[in-house]
Amino acid sequence: MKIEVLTLFPDMFSAVMSQSMMWKARDRGLLDFQARDIRDFTQDKHRQVDDTPYGGGGGMILKPDVLVRAVESVKGDADTPVILLSPQGRKLTHEVAAELSRLPRLILVCGRYEGVDERVRELAIGDEISIGDYVLTGGELAAMVLIDAVVRLIPGVLGAAGAQHRDSHAQGLLEGPHYTRPPEFRGLGVPDVLTSGRHAEVDRWRRKQSLKRTWQRRPDLLTSADLSDDDRAYLAQLDAGDAE
Ligand code: SAM
Repeated sequence: MKIEVLTLFPDMFSAVMSQSMMWKARDRGLLDFQARDIRDFTQDKHRQVDDTPYGGGGGMILKPDVLVRAVESVKGDADTPVILLSPQGRKLTHEVAAELSRLPRLILVCGRYEGVDERVRELAIGDEISIGDYVLTGGELAAMVLIDAVVRLIPGVLGAAGAQHRDSHAQGLLEGPHYTRPPEFRGLGVPDVLTSGRHAEVDRWRRKQSLKRTWQRRPDLLTSADLSDDDRAYLAQLDAGDAE
């Protein structure tokens, strides 16, 4: 996958994109990443990217001529999705990340200040994505969150040993608890089943823990999760208060 980001602060991406899984994805040739400076697409000697809003009201707006030129020049003739990070966009979820992870190329546009001139949306943006119902000072952190969520789903990035199919939200549920050595820590042990070596039982235990945790913390997810008859029976036991 190729991801190009248009930003006023390309250096913000260096640390995140040059370490851990993002770096491994690039090193393995699974991700080609470029942060492009929006200022490089200005044509005046002051390299001005923003201006005051018509109608007043304070704050600065990213100029349409610069931003549309930047998108068009990075995109070329290709039919590549151009996504504006925006608190007004559709919310980033596992499904959205999975959908984007199947694309060969993405262009992400980071807003700043009061945001972008509306004509940029109309002329150059195909999609808008929000990382949550709050406002950041710029789209860069949101773009990094999106990139991380998308890139870890590209086959090969986490390696064969990854258990991302069991991660929270991957199947509409939260994941259950994890344990590692030591077997006892400050008086707290590890559930016997996990050290029993009986894999089918471990799988059944994990499924129940996942259902229980979702039932406790995010019952709203259960209405759209893919549940078996056994799952429903276990949830009914939890509702009735007779399940451990
Ligand atoms: N005035 C805008 C509004 O009320 O919708 C907010 C502008 S915000 C201060 C500046 C930029 O940060 C936005 O253009 C967007 O790129 C980014 N941003 C802020 N919050 C975001 C969020 N929740 N998700 C994604 N991007 C966000």
